Amino acid sequence: MTIRDQLEEREMEYLSPYAARSRDSKGRKREEPQCDLRPVFQRDRDRILHCKAFRRLKQKTQVFLLPEGDHYRTRLTHTLEVSQNARTIAKALRLNEDLVEAVALGHDLGHTPFGHAGERALNNVYHFSHSEQSLRVVDYIEKEGRGLNLTWEVRDGILNHQTAGMPGTLEGAVVRLSDKLAYIYHDMDDAIRGGILTEEDIPADIRDILGNSCKARLNTMIHDVITNSMGSPEVHMSPGVDRAMKDLRKFMFENVYLNPKAKGEEDKAVHMIEQLFEYYVRHPGALPKQFKDALAETDNTKEQIVCDYIAGMTDPYAVKKFHEYFVPGAWKI
Ligand code: MG
Repeated sequence: MTIRDQLEEREMEYLSPYAARSRDSKGRKREEPQCDLRPVFQRDRDRILHCKAFRRLKQKTQVFLLPEGDHYRTRLTHTLEVSQNARTIAKALRLNEDLVEAVALGHDLGHTPFGHAGERALNNVYHFSHSEQSLRVVDYIEKEGRGLNLTWEVRDGILNHQTAGMPGTLEGAVVRLSDKLAYIYHDMDDAIRGGILTEEDIPADIRDILGNSCKARLNTMIHDVITNSMGSPEVHMSPGVDRAMKDLRKFMFENVYLNPKAKGEEDKAVHMIEQLFEYYVRHPGALPKQFKDALAETDNTKEQIVCDYIAGMTDPYAVKKFHEYFVPGAWKI
């Protein structure tokens, strides 16, 4: 019996009847021999952690563009906080922690530079959704175009992590909710840090239910999810906390995500990404080899391949490329 066999046995005995068991996975697109140490979801988690797109998250915007302060979240720290929330919930509900971790670490791999401004720009010029793009990253773009060949459950959780998604596993549903809990917590914390808002600006009826600090509110929401989902085939909150969370999210959309102080530079980011898109569509020869090969070898449109390349850029890399193509360089002797 291998260590993997033993771990799979343990899952059969220990996990909730509603959990996804590694042994019951619907499998990978290309079949592979099993690892002797790790069940499939644990192995997928490691593949995601080791991929290049994961490392690039460290220089991608969460909400505040290119922040100078060291303590603002980036897409990488957001991802780690989502994973942490999801694992806490999964552990308490005896769901598959490896699966939630894999989905959480992979959910934003397709995010553009400059956060939702970048997403908006690519949607203006072509078509773009970051959850579909995250799936493209793990299916087609990583490993020089070969993809990570992940299991159905991890791919499903990544694709369906946004509000409109319907994940096929409870673990996927845990990540979808944990993503919201994470950004409600840390985007408000960063907004207070950045002087966009103060704690007292949050409506009192929301704070009465959720708590009077970012930390207290996260704690309330996580406890509420666990208490209300225990022994249930669904992940949900109590109606009161759910309502307050939605109200807080709405408040944040109105006061943080669309705040001119925080978003003043966003139009420039949109313009820059649109310009880069047009440049590469007109000059596909400027794409790196992998993307030129994809143009020649797949039936993807040029626009899709250009989107793939630009979506993968970090914020500073996009700025560097914009400079290279659109800003005249100084004469050097
Ligand atoms: Mg996210």
